[in-house]
Amino acid sequence: MTVASTELVDYDEVVSRYEPVMGMEVHVELSTTTKMFCGCANHFGAEPNTNVCPVCLGLPGALPVVNAAAVESAIRIGLALNCDIAPWGRFARKNYFYPDQPKNYQISQYDEPIAVNGHLDVPLDDGTTWRVEIERAHMEEDTGKLTHLGSATGRIAGATTSLLDFNRAGVPLVEIVTRPIEGAGARAPEIARSYVTALRDLLRGLDVSDVRMDQGSMRCDANVSLKPVGAAEFGTRTETKNVNSLKSVEVAVRYEMRRQAAVLDAGGEIVQETRHFHEDGYTSAGRRKETAEDYRYFPEPDLEPVAPSDDLVERLRATIPELPWLQRNRIQQEWGISDEVMRDLVNNGVIDLVTATVAEGASSEGARALWGNFLVQKANERGVTASELAITPTQVAAVLKLVDDGKLSNKLAREVIEGVLAGEGEPEQVMTDRGLAVVRDDSVIQAAVDDALAAQPDIAEKIRGGKVQAAGAVVGAVMKATKGQADAARVRELVLAACGVAG
Ligand code: ADP
Ligand code: MG
Ligand code: ZN
Repeated sequence: MTVASTELVDYDEVVSRYEPVMGMEVHVELSTTTKMFCGCANHFGAEPNTNVCPVCLGLPGALPVVNAAAVESAIRIGLALNCDIAPWGRFARKNYFYPDQPKNYQISQYDEPIAVNGHLDVPLDDGTTWRVEIERAHMEEDTGKLTHLGSATGRIAGATTSLLDFNRAGVPLVEIVTRPIEGAGARAPEIARSYVTALRDLLRGLDVSDVRMDQGSMRCDANVSLKPVGAAEFGTRTETKNVNSLKSVEVAVRYEMRRQAAVLDAGGEIVQETRHFHEDGYTSAGRRKETAEDYRYFPEPDLEPVAPSDDLVERLRATIPELPWLQRNRIQQEWGISDEVMRDLVNNGVIDLVTATVAEGASSEGARALWGNFLVQKANERGVTASELAITPTQVAAVLKLVDDGKLSNKLAREVIEGVLAGEGEPEQVMTDRGLAVVRDDSVIQAAVDDALAAQPDIAEKIRGGKVQAAGAVVGAVMKATKGQADAARVRELVLAACGVAG
């Protein structure tokens, strides 16, 4: 099913007459070792139905226990989002029937979420920031995964077989819900994308989740409504589910704005419903929205309330890192590099590696040159990321120290790194074993100079006659003969001296 463009209002038209209101709901799977309420492994990509037990399969009589590590991650997320942490709160049962939900209820948090009333200052494309208010972040458990076979779309309609994998059932989730985002106007789609991007970067910095939208460890539902410009009351919203890339967040919001405007312009009404996002850039109607009553929430009787002490909260607060984009700005200033150079380092995933190398005493120029060029190239050749290479920031700093001490040239430094990557040991040892140190011994260089002059008598004659520029060819020959290990400046001095001219 595709939607004719005539059913969409031109975007500029939409924002001239309507004001969008958005609300983002983001689910993140926590990368804890075990699941939320049982000891099963929390591991993406395992053989189906191997990480399961009576608790996460919802077998009668099985009792859940709260995963403390998941609670700590949820509190850290709340703190990073400037939320208040609830000193006491119960889990709730959210009752509904669906085959991916073995217990026929999901353990979630309803009116007693762990974190409330926060905000995130989101960096936008033009360098300004937009404050998104956070209503709450709460803990819950993921459902199993249904795979429908036999239908063209992979959806249940038309499917002949459905497969169930309960490995994901009971994986810890944190859902982060914004307050309505108002006043964004034409920038609404960009702000939605920027918010999800910032949230992803923040969660990655906290090291609480893989935040892989493509693998579903971060999932975004985008609520959108329109109201006539100047109107006080919000319009009816739709909720586009499981938008699975950053770009798609922007596309989905923009599409819903244009579609809803067409419905409203035609005198129609927006129905409160969920909508499916399609990769080719449109949304289609899903189910009518349930109300809270449909879920018959009540406090979960099988679990103790979560009551984090002030002490615990303060200890966790001390672990919250600087916001990644603020850290990037600070680092860029410290290193004195352009936006472009910074962007390359970020895109190559080497910022942390360069930072760690600098922390080991290296200059930022030296560390950037090796990680940003040579090591990224080595990583690409091997099909891994720079951080997966078999060399540490400490070792790179050691190589740079050898360069600073005049023991290695830049070229030899790269050969030492090759040796480290090949598992030949620490930099100093590779340098010795491969015989790579810069040749300081004048007698060795002198012999090479004499040979080179003897091999090119006409050039030697020119130099003796005062054509000092001609020395370059001899220096080059000596460097080649010494495999680049001689100090080029010293070679030049010795060549000129041998020809009886001053440098
Ligand atoms: P539900 O459980 O129905 O999805 P939530 O409260 O979890 O409801 O999330 C609804 C999201 O939509 C929130 O981010 C909220 O701020 C936002 N929202 C609420 N009303 C509107 C509206 N009229 N238009 C756009 N977004 C809205
Ligand atoms: Mg919701
Ligand atoms: Zn289990």
